[in-house]
Amino acid sequence: NKKLVLILGDQLDLNGAALKGFDSQHDQIIMVESANEAQYVWSHKAKIALFLSAMRHFAQKLKDKKYPLAYYSESSKTITEVLREHLTQNQIQHLVCVEPGEWRLKQAIEDLASEFKIQLDMREDSHFFCTHAEFREWAANKKELRLEYFYRLMRKKYSILVEADGNPEGGQWNFDQDNRKPYPKKGPGITDAPAEFKPDAITQEVIKYVNQTYPEHPGSLDQFHWPVSREQALKALDYFVEYRLRNFGIFQDAMWTDTPFGWHSLLSSSLNLKLLNPREVIDAVLKAWKKNALDLSNIEGFIRQILGWREFVRGMYYLDMPQMAQDNFYDHQRSLPKWYWTGDTQMHCMRDTVGQTLQYGYAHHIQRLMVTGNFGLLAEILPSAVCDWYLAVYVDAIEWVELPNTAGMALFANGGRFTSKPYIASGAYIKRMSNYCSSCKYKPDVRFGETACPVTNLYWNFLIKHRKQFDGNPRTRLMTANLNKISPEDQKQITLHAQHILNHLDEL
Ligand code: FAD
Ligand code: SF4
Repeated sequence: NKKLVLILGDQLDLNGAALKGFDSQHDQIIMVESANEAQYVWSHKAKIALFLSAMRHFAQKLKDKKYPLAYYSESSKTITEVLREHLTQNQIQHLVCVEPGEWRLKQAIEDLASEFKIQLDMREDSHFFCTHAEFREWAANKKELRLEYFYRLMRKKYSILVEADGNPEGGQWNFDQDNRKPYPKKGPGITDAPAEFKPDAITQEVIKYVNQTYPEHPGSLDQFHWPVSREQALKALDYFVEYRLRNFGIFQDAMWTDTPFGWHSLLSSSLNLKLLNPREVIDAVLKAWKKNALDLSNIEGFIRQILGWREFVRGMYYLDMPQMAQDNFYDHQRSLPKWYWTGDTQMHCMRDTVGQTLQYGYAHHIQRLMVTGNFGLLAEILPSAVCDWYLAVYVDAIEWVELPNTAGMALFANGGRFTSKPYIASGAYIKRMSNYCSSCKYKPDVRFGETACPVTNLYWNFLIKHRKQFDGNPRTRLMTANLNKISPEDQKQITLHAQHILNHLDEL
């Protein structure tokens, strides 16, 4: 019987599971540009443009290869509304798709199939190393779900950086300690900027459309240089491993004004849209390691992100949804400060991170975790409001990877289901890892009063509030030990100042 194969905007892989067994004589592919996908969160213009341009490039490829394709362009309907009409008009009884990376869409497609009583073949995404069944099996009966053990399992299973005797290359599974250096005092000195891709005719058309259709959406398209096709993504990968990988690890956590990309790879959007496969990314990195005699700690640091974190958070998402989206361990209820959407704040670290996010749809991991994420937790913002912001503003944001990172890692909203402690830090950390504080109105070491750094003040306030929790965890006990060195009177002032800040977050 005739099959309809749905390909979503983040499933742009000709070798993906959706097209396995495709019969061009009988079957048909459907792709939908839906306005709802741009609007269900207030998406950054660059995120919308990236998805649309990559979809159109992929559709072109399907047409060149003579695949029968129904392409719904610039539709104002939801994906399931379009599907509903298409199924009815074409009397289709069999729908094939790869499992969506967002729960809401997965549910909507499953509901539609049962309403129409059609056969639904929702296939697992073959792009990932770890299957759901494997992850579930690994997680079952574990007292603690921790990246480190999962990552070692993946390394062994796929013989990546593992010696013949089963031991890790270089005698260590993890070189995290070597990958936390700030930039030199005189600045990052980045000699090789990331690869940029000039918008071609398709992308230019998309940019025009997005600017006209979504003028009020956040962000700008003036600097849109993301890879939008597999060919461009492969070039971005080649360029990264050849020129930028050598400094990736050591400065992975470093931040600096006007340095939006550091030595990072900028490959997440290509990976998440499935323009690149993680296996080929790891192969390229391993080859460059040998060819260019790169440092092992650097290589391990990169592979840990792809083979470790990326696979781990995906496993956690499907294990814990839909609960993960509702968790709110601390019962935080505050609204997101308005400046998350504008960058209009006097806090230099936030201004820079939000500013580059609006400019490019990009901030690197430590900016997301320890600047905007840390503040979201310390300022007691409603987790779903923070998560919606992350889902909206980053070009690589798809819920399977955004939500576990935001709710789970940054906000501790699931009470430490897969992290050993809340990731909180004071201004001292930001001062150590960046140059933001040197030109900020606030002072990172001042805890209360007019010049007090809001991050520092809210950090101590958070510890005072949750002293018992932090005291009870050996990994955070040092934090409360430091708190105990602050006099009771100063602790009172910290709390008073924090109350004021928390009531006036928009004014910071
Ligand atoms: P690099 O620093 O060059 O890292 C290489 C690759 O490793 C990335 O391309 C990515 O595929 C993978 N990676 C690294 N860290 C993680 C991680 N924690 N989880 C999953 N994969 C990882 N990543 C997304 O892809 N989409 C998101 O929506 C997203 N939201 C995040 C929200 C928060 C609050 C935090 C703390 C992290 C988030 N991340 C997300 C993870 C990480 O920040 C981005 O993958 C990374 O910044 C992308 O830039 P890059 O390609 O230059 O990464
Ligand atoms: Fe950020 Fe505080 Fe440093 Fe200012 S002083 S840049 S607010 S950490």
